[in-house]
Amino acid sequence: MRQNPANAIKFYCMPVLLLAEVRTIMEYECDLLCKLVAIDTDSTQRKNYNKIVELLICEAEKAGLKAEKVIDEKGIPHVTVTFHEAPEGKKIVFLTHYDVVPAGEGWEFDPFKPFVKNGKLFGRGAADDKSNIIAALAAFKEVLEEKLPLKINPVLIIAGGEETGEGESFFRKIDGDICVVLDSGCEGLSIGASGVARLNVKVIGKQAHSAYPFRGINAIYQASKIICRIEEIAKEMEKRVISKFYAPTHYEYVPRRVSVTMINGGIAANIIPSECNLLVDIRTIPEERAEEAAEELKAAIEDYAKRNGIEVEVETKVFMDGWYTTDERVIEKFRGILEEVLDGEAKVVVELGGTDGVFMIDRMPVIQFGTMREENNIHGKNEFVYLEDVEKVKKFVKMIITSDL
Ligand SMILES: [Zn+2]
Repeated sequence: MRQNPANAIKFYCMPVLLLAEVRTIMEYECDLLCKLVAIDTDSTQRKNYNKIVELLICEAEKAGLKAEKVIDEKGIPHVTVTFHEAPEGKKIVFLTHYDVVPAGEGWEFDPFKPFVKNGKLFGRGAADDKSNIIAALAAFKEVLEEKLPLKINPVLIIAGGEETGEGESFFRKIDGDICVVLDSGCEGLSIGASGVARLNVKVIGKQAHSAYPFRGINAIYQASKIICRIEEIAKEMEKRVISKFYAPTHYEYVPRRVSVTMINGGIAANIIPSECNLLVDIRTIPEERAEEAAEELKAAIEDYAKRNGIEVEVETKVFMDGWYTTDERVIEKFRGILEEVLDGEAKVVVELGGTDGVFMIDRMPVIQFGTMREENNIHGKNEFVYLEDVEKVKKFVKMIITSDL
């Protein structure tokens, strides 16, 4: 559909440049963000990966920075941006990604023809995560232009294959002293993330002709009782299992969350089903082991089933444990920087979802910040970013690289 994104840049970025207030404040950021959004980097097809990598290298070099293309063992290209002259000091790694999830249906405009309206820039990837690439690049560029002394050795990594998880092996090889993941929200200083475990619950009944339901045991009816019980357990766990860390949104503190997310049962319209399968998703707090949370839920389901004469087989699977940065000195240093950027108090939060920090935390402290807010519709239709938030992330990065960490 989009054979020539270069033309789209020309036509659709023009109005951006005509918006006087935006032009004066953030011309560089708007212009470059439009260029990036106009390139569809659909991660499910590894679309235009080389094209965007070349553009990023070209833009970084134009800004006076050193840019390199790194191809990982899966053939995915990534970009590293550094300063030509940087002190030997601490290596601070800023993590971003250029790939996006597919646009999907229902957009009110072409997701790859970005435009600016009322201080927002619209398009797929505008928030997740191209705005954060731009914020970091702009920060690096300004530090050079303003000849600010670097106190540390900053490295900007612009990765591919993040959305599909293909980038994991690349992330795991990155070394450094502190990692700043620029791929999350701006509600606070994020220092960790929740874990994930899942349960497969097989509810077993007895097959029969539906004209004679009394001869069978309907597994779907049995499963519905189990579902209701899981909902009760979920509410109880959400109140009882609570992290010491603030949540970025909705909750005050991050709780354990349990949801039935899939159901599958029945084979024909005239058969009483003998089996119904449920999938239960658990989001754990960072302080607990995901396996223990899964085992606790398994025991509760088995106990309810036994007491009610329902036959179940429950299997648990852990996907990842939650994690958090424990280096208090680093947290306080970054909190101080963020408070200066926000000109107010900054909460220390942990993510409700997962982040790429999980691939780094075994080697260095991880701090997370970014442009994303709930209303930005990342991964949904009509994605946008507030330009104000791009500015905020830029300031944050700029202050980090000119601070004595
Ligand atoms: Zn992202």
